[in-house]
Amino acid sequence: MTVVAIDGPAGAGKSSVARAVAERLGFTYLDTGAMYRSVALAAQERGVEPATIAPALKIEQREKRVLVDERDVTEAIRQPQVSEAASRAAADPAVRQAVVAQQRRLLESGDWVAEGRDIGSVVAPEADVKVFLTADPAERARRRAAELGLDEATVLAEQTIRDQRDETREHSPLQPAPDAMTLDTTHMTFPEVVERIAGVVDQTTRRRTRG
Ligand code: C5P
Repeated sequence: MTVVAIDGPAGAGKSSVARAVAERLGFTYLDTGAMYRSVALAAQERGVEPATIAPALKIEQREKRVLVDERDVTEAIRQPQVSEAASRAAADPAVRQAVVAQQRRLLESGDWVAEGRDIGSVVAPEADVKVFLTADPAERARRRAAELGLDEATVLAEQTIRDQRDETREHSPLQPAPDAMTLDTTHMTFPEVVERIAGVVDQTTRRRTRG
């Protein structure tokens, strides 16, 4: 059983990097941000507080799709207002407790690349490899704007608000675990980032096998 934790701010490329690393290693990919997004979306739609539904919500990730109580929400959870609602919901300790419990249950067996804000620090402090993925704010906004076909300045403004909320919240603020390897990808290509992380995982698991 191996867990690779990839944490970092919005737009650092965590999702695409984590997915590619998981594919390269034959591990399962877990997008924990999608879980907070799913809770926020369901709460919005039902007009209730996120904390009241988080414990009972059935969130599944299958073949690049996200399902909430069997409904496909893959596209719906990417809307900007859901990003905003997710970051607010994620600041509530009751929501975090419920979502983290689900994540820990998933990570109990199998080989995973889990991506989020607090994987190496809170969800899986025993993770075999911990990476804190980051890049200059302007570069992160540029990449995300290009990916989503949005205006760069708008993305940067929203990203700054979300980063600040994630970094300063009282519970599980975004910060690297003390034993995480920080990877600044501002001047790295996507394949370089994937190879670097996969290489570290290979080394770590080989060392473990040799005992
Ligand atoms: O990564 P993504 O942008 O999809 O995450 C949406 C929001 O969920 C983040 O802004 C953050 O507030 C929250 N989140 C979190 N802990 C995680 C993953 C995401 O607080 N492990």
